[in-house]
Amino acid sequence: MTAVIIDGTAVAEQIRAKVAEDVNKWVAAGHARPGLATVLVGENPASQVYVRSKQKACAQVGIESYGHVLPADVSQSDLEKLVADLNDDPKVNGILVQLPLPSGLDEEKVLRSIRVEKDVDGFHPINIGRLAQKGRDPLFVPCTPSGVMHLLAQHVSTLEGVNAVVLGRSNIVGMPVALLLVRANATVTICHSRSKNLPDIVRGADVLVAAVGRPEMVKADWIKPGAVVIDVGVNRVEDVSKPKGYRLVGDVAFDEVKEVAGAITPVPGGVGPMTIAMLLKNTMHAAQIAEV
Ligand code: NDP
Repeated sequence: MTAVIIDGTAVAEQIRAKVAEDVNKWVAAGHARPGLATVLVGENPASQVYVRSKQKACAQVGIESYGHVLPADVSQSDLEKLVADLNDDPKVNGILVQLPLPSGLDEEKVLRSIRVEKDVDGFHPINIGRLAQKGRDPLFVPCTPSGVMHLLAQHVSTLEGVNAVVLGRSNIVGMPVALLLVRANATVTICHSRSKNLPDIVRGADVLVAAVGRPEMVKADWIKPGAVVIDVGVNRVEDVSKPKGYRLVGDVAFDEVKEVAGAITPVPGGVGPMTIAMLLKNTMHAAQIAEV
């Protein structure tokens, strides 16, 4: 069997087009243009790239973006003061503090200082807490996990009673994905670096979400025939044939796993483009919340 390749770029493009349409209608109806503030601390090159892509994506759909760059040695109080100012700025509907923060800064405290109605990344403890509780709804769901769920929804008619395995338990991907799968009534197993017999556990998965950051760790003989495989991993591996000297691969050995799985996301072009699309969607939602 050869798997259906899930085209995250195309799905993300549809979401971005819908957000652009919503922004147009919103502004035409006399509302202020939605605004996203990005806060970048330090000079982490990957973070700089991510922030630039987010700002570019905002411009493409008509969302205003306000970039703030702080030095790596900024004090906790100065960073929180900036967040407080953005909380009070009516032009700013969403606040995105790019993670990871340089060491020495208290990430949890910074995330907690973002007003929950502007927490478009969905990492505020209240939003995560609501995600974890039955009968409660977060105002925002973290972007990569919600992108994963969106892709799954296109390829699995229902997640109810489905055996889902999540590889990874990070705050930003693994754990929120697992919580979302539970909310969708899947039976969820969360694996991490101390889990034993990973291949055996994964073989029971109808749905597999891999978010470990280990290049091509998941092999074809781990996969139940027909399973839906969502690969969140983005890993650089050396490749002298490429101009940059490396190429990107996921956590799943794509070429072999696609021969067993029912559907699979590629890397790049799978989950990656969904993350920014969901951020734009969350920012539009934040603008709507601000007017309620
Ligand atoms: P983290 O490093 O924060 O978490 C990795 C998780 O994987 C941890 O829970 C860790 O376990 C677990 N793990 C590590 N090694 C193994 C192993 N050998 N066996 C089983 N579990 C293991 O990573 P993130 O969650 O932030 O990111 C995961 C991947 O997703 C990365 O490749 C990252 O680049 C990518 N990513 C992609 C995004 C996108 O938009 N496409 C967005 C965010 C991330 P433990 O908890 O025990 O340490």
